[in-house]
Amino acid sequence: MTDVARHNLALFGPAGSGKGTQAVYLERELGVEHIATGEMLRQERALGSELGQTLAAYLDAGKLVPDEVIVAMIRHRLAGPQADAGFVLDGFPRTVAQAKALMELLAQVERPLDIAVVLEVPDDQLVARLARRARQEDRSDDTPEVIAERLRIYHDETEPVLEYLSQTLTVVRIDGARPVEEVTEAVLQAIE
Ligand code: AMP
Repeated sequence: MTDVARHNLALFGPAGSGKGTQAVYLERELGVEHIATGEMLRQERALGSELGQTLAAYLDAGKLVPDEVIVAMIRHRLAGPQADAGFVLDGFPRTVAQAKALMELLAQVERPLDIAVVLEVPDDQLVARLARRARQEDRSDDTPEVIAERLRIYHDETEPVLEYLSQTLTVVRIDGARPVEEVTEAVLQAIE
C-alpha cells in the first residue's frame, strides 16, 4: 500500500476478461482518461477512411495492427490535458515494442506509468463469455476462430509485456473470474 493514489495505469487481460467494463468504471469514478485502442480502431474503421479499410482486415482476423499505427494514435491522447487527472490504458500496450515506445513517450511528457493491473480469467471461461458477447454485440471478431487467434496472440505477444514492465513497475494480478463488483473492489485496492 502507498498513501499516493496511483492513477496512471494500464489494465491488462485477454479479450473477454472485463477490462473494458472496469476501465469505464474507473473513468467515471476517478475522472481519468480512458484510452481504449480497440475502440479507437473500430471508430476509425466505421469512418470508412482509407486507414479504416486497412484496419478492417486486421480487426476481422483478430491480428494486431502494426505497432507504429497504434503508437501514433495514442500519442496525443497521453500528452493532452484530458490526461491531467491520470489515464487508464485499455488494450495497450499489447507487444513489448509498444511497451517500450509507451515508456519513452511517458518519460517525455513526465507522466510515468504507476501500475499495471492484470485481470486473469481462464481461457475456457473467456470463450464462453465471448460467445455470449458475440450474440449481444454482433462484433466481427467474436467468431470462434478469431477468438482463438486473439487468445493465442495475448499469450504469445502480450504476456511478455507484463514480464517487461515488472522490471520497473508494480504488476498486480487479479482474479477476473469473479463477479464484476468484486473485481472492481480488487482493482481499487490495487491502485489506491
Ligand atoms: P480490443 O477491443 O481491445 O479487444 O481490440 C480489438 C482488436 O483491435 C484487436 O483484436 C486488434 O486487432 C486491435 N487492437 C487493439 N488494440 C491494439 C494494440 N494495442 N495493438 C495492436 N492491435 C490492437
